[in-house]
Amino acid sequence: MPKRYSKKPAQQQKIAKKRIEFLFRHAKEVFKEDSSISDKYVKMARRIAMKYKIRLPPSLKKRFCKNCHRYLVPGANCRVRIHKHRVIYYCLGCRHYMRHPVK
Ligand SMILES: [Zn+2]
Repeated sequence: MPKRYSKKPAQQQKIAKKRIEFLFRHAKEVFKEDSSISDKYVKMARRIAMKYKIRLPPSLKKRFCKNCHRYLVPGANCRVRIHKHRVIYYCLGCRHYMRHPVK
């Protein structure tokens, strides 16, 4: 009978978090050369987060499109506007708006 794991061990989650940070760092670096590789990194980071039930930190959530999951770089493939105390990210890839409240 297979055992059911409701929660992953803390140590594994810690490693997974480091891997996610690593992937986002590299996504940023590689973007200038090939943005499709950045998109792949985002995909991998999301998969790790899902597998280990990790919530992505808000700083990383703003770095990719919620709709098409592409890595976003303001001025390159997304537009950033501030409207009514909110930062609005507009993905140029799929024309999706994301709103983030400002403290
Ligand atoms: Zn998008």
